[in-house]
Amino acid sequence: MLNHYVPLKCDYCGEDLLKKGGNVIFMTKFDYSHGTKEYISIYFACKGDCDVELTRQNQVEGISSGWRDVKEFTNPYLYLNFIMAFINGLKKGHKYSEQAYERMKDIFLIFGQKVFRQPTHEEMENANLTFSLPPI
Ligand SMILES: [Zn+2]
Repeated sequence: MLNHYVPLKCDYCGEDLLKKGGNVIFMTKFDYSHGTKEYISIYFACKGDCDVELTRQNQVEGISSGWRDVKEFTNPYLYLNFIMAFINGLKKGHKYSEQAYERMKDIFLIFGQKVFRQPTHEEMENANLTFSLPPI
């Protein structure tokens, strides 16, 4: 889907988690009065030392950490489920810091490399035609 391969780099050591495996860590704050979450930061880490160190660095009182294995995002069913949860969360009122919002886009784009097939030549031509039209 992308013109070139984009690695999912560990935020601590820089290794490619699409090849090595790892975790996506979500730092969130729960708003009990509204029943919503605020995503403070999202980061990518190798399992083990990098994960532990990044979680320690980002640990702040009142902020919870949760993680998902990167394998979950390369599973087409779980990938789509994650996108739907994101969209439903926006409607529910979940909030995202600028960093967390950019990271959500990274998740969709980078893992999309593993989930989607390459478009055919005809599909690319149709896409280029669609891109030339005004947005809906
Ligand atoms: Zn690492």
